[in-house]
Amino acid sequence: MRDKILLRQLQALPLTAKITLAEQRIVEWYEHYDGKVCISFSGGKDSTVLVDLVHGIYPDVPLVFSNTGLEYPEIQSFARKMGAEFVRPKMSFSDVISKYGYPIISKEVAEAIRYSRKIRHEIKENDHSRTVCRREMMTGEFGLPDWKLEKSARMTHRMEMLGKYAGSVPETYEAGDLPFAGLEDGKTNSMYNKTKWLPLCNETQFMIGEECCDVMKKKPLDTYQKKSGLFPYLGTMAEESRIRATGWVKHGCNAFDSGKPKSAPLSVWTDQDVLHYIKKRNLEICSVYWEILAVDNQGFYYDPMPGMDCKLKCTGCRRTGCIFCGFGAQHDPEPRFVRLAKTHPKQYEYCIKVGQWVDNPNYDPAAPEYDGEWKNWNPKKIWVPSKKGLGMKKVFDDCNQIYGKEFIKYE
Ligand code: SF4
Repeated sequence: MRDKILLRQLQALPLTAKITLAEQRIVEWYEHYDGKVCISFSGGKDSTVLVDLVHGIYPDVPLVFSNTGLEYPEIQSFARKMGAEFVRPKMSFSDVISKYGYPIISKEVAEAIRYSRKIRHEIKENDHSRTVCRREMMTGEFGLPDWKLEKSARMTHRMEMLGKYAGSVPETYEAGDLPFAGLEDGKTNSMYNKTKWLPLCNETQFMIGEECCDVMKKKPLDTYQKKSGLFPYLGTMAEESRIRATGWVKHGCNAFDSGKPKSAPLSVWTDQDVLHYIKKRNLEICSVYWEILAVDNQGFYYDPMPGMDCKLKCTGCRRTGCIFCGFGAQHDPEPRFVRLAKTHPKQYEYCIKVGQWVDNPNYDPAAPEYDGEWKNWNPKKIWVPSKKGLGMKKVFDDCNQIYGKEFIKYE
């Protein structure tokens, strides 16, 4: 039976055991789909390790790279060099922001804010359950008596959960459990801390949303998979996020039973495993990482002896995802946008500068200022990217005005 304890036990295994486990998962997946598999390649170091493991057994498995246009130029070149097939989203990042909002804070909070800002009478019947859940997180509404909800089962379950988790997000949750997280005002252990995020929700004049990844990455890859009929290997690890850890508990490394089957043979690996594997195999990785060296407790880098038990670190970029992404930027030990300014000044300028005010396409002149105690978010004008830049300076400045000037550092 898979649970978080088993996950921690597997994460504590030595690298050699993890390599064996990963190879077993790779073979299982390949055989299950009779070789109709591919590698979803991001150009990052985890993906590169995955390619090495898969190609060590099946050298002909193709690579597919979702070219969002938001990656470091070096990552794109590396993906090309590795022979990946490029797929592209249908929209540009600036159009995605204009339509769905800026990706800031976290996917969960951005989603909760997006739904909370919906004016109640505009919420469609078929959008009910999800919207109500997310709105409840931010507004503290509970019950919505004038709506025809399937009350009995849903509400009983919620009441039980509320008692059980007392406001914190449970380790393993289902979508229906989430509303409880936001109901406990001031509980800092909740990722939906209502007291914290309400000002961001109510006081800013730009859209915030979580849908960017779906449009920019998932849809192009889904389309590729449908067309090609290939089932993907991914280089994701459970340690990266709560959602990934929960996914592993539910499906294991090979999610045969998921709506979208995928294999993540590195699920129980850690970042240190990946770095040690690269060192051990002397693998070529993308140049944005610069060098992998050992680091001591004082933060000094040194060249480790082969096979040495030490903490490894990249001297260059630590994260190589989309360079303009604001998700998690408030937690960066080394602020990503400050770094971008130094390493890629042209891209930094585009990200930070310009932007423009436009009419809010969702402005509703008929909406009341208040919906019960809830102040509707209904600005006439909103801030969006312009052709010349994403305008993120204003977004970060507004966040920093609420949460302190060091909240998201960008200069
Ligand atoms: S990582 Fe961020 S910028 Fe990239 S697609 Fe996802 S949300 Fe958008």
